[in-house]
Amino acid sequence: MHFDQLHALYHQPLFDLISQSRQMHLQHWRGEQIQRCSLLSIKTGGCSEDCSYCAQSAHYSTGLEREDLLPIEDILSAAKRARAQGATRFCMGAAWRGVRDGTPKFEQVLNTVREVSQLGMEVCVTLGQIGVAEAHKLRQSGVTAYNHNIDTSPEFYPEIVSTHTFTDRLNTIAAVQQSGMSVCCGGIIGMGESEDDRLRMLEVLSNFDPPPESVPINCLMAMPGTPLSDRPPVEIFEIVRLIAVTRLALPKARVRLAAGRTRLTREGQALCFFAGANSIFYGEKLLTAANPAADRDLQLLRELGLQIEADDALGPPFRLTPAAAAF
Ligand code: SAM
Ligand code: SF4
Repeated sequence: MHFDQLHALYHQPLFDLISQSRQMHLQHWRGEQIQRCSLLSIKTGGCSEDCSYCAQSAHYSTGLEREDLLPIEDILSAAKRARAQGATRFCMGAAWRGVRDGTPKFEQVLNTVREVSQLGMEVCVTLGQIGVAEAHKLRQSGVTAYNHNIDTSPEFYPEIVSTHTFTDRLNTIAAVQQSGMSVCCGGIIGMGESEDDRLRMLEVLSNFDPPPESVPINCLMAMPGTPLSDRPPVEIFEIVRLIAVTRLALPKARVRLAAGRTRLTREGQALCFFAGANSIFYGEKLLTAANPAADRDLQLLRELGLQIEADDALGPPFRLTPAAAAF
């Protein structure tokens, strides 16, 4: 879609916009369920890149403890726990600039993926920059999707990262597309970008060929110690508008309500689902940031009467934990 079309859609009265995105959603996703994804940081902190939102960058003192690549057994047990909690997609993230074929760490990731892919969930990894050789090997090992976010518009990107370029991001995405893995690619809002920057980001995403299979919309988690630590939260209606336009621009993509849900009310999240979001990141931690508790999420989805993938994982009757009941 062209920027001007996205701009016109975005700036309609809110109810007109979400009526249209709802229609589009029903056309492509009627009867489909909300997907719960679990995200595990398999290698934390100490990253060479200077992404100004990221607590894992070695350029900032964020108090985050660095951890080496987790052993396969630890990742496997986390994946089994996630599946038992109802996740149907398991994502593994590493705080690397990228990874190269032939290195021991890449071999370890491939071995991990071979094990995790036996569990029957979709397997997604996010390891930074890769080329065609790495993408092919990841796919052969059982990775179904590669996450690599463009994060914002090409114009605003240099304001938030100086150690790599927007084009570097696009090159990795092209390698992933070439391998046949599906692309998970989205961005962050609330970093000081304009609403036009967000729409430019959507313009780029909607012109991918093939289009991304999934689009995470992250709200900035302002991490202490990073240059963006004092950014205010984004207004809920800006988030809802962006989700609605994402649904219209990318009708078949899973639109994932990703980081920053702790800052959204239940009502705000409900509007996001109405506007076209159909996936959440699930579980107490999102890489290094807090996430709503799994049982509170499940309660919200059920209260809304939404269909939920693998809802039988916990087995009815659903019982609230004391923390959820007090909410
Ligand atoms: N190093 C890899 C990379 O850059 O692609 C993978 C890990 S990186 C942490 C994955 C994504 O998490 C980023 O592209 C960004 O969209 C999101 N993210 C990281 N920190 C965030 C924050 N503080 N708030 C919101 N989203 C964040
Ligand atoms: Fe490193 Fe990824 Fe964080 Fe950037 S977003 S600092 S590349 S872990």
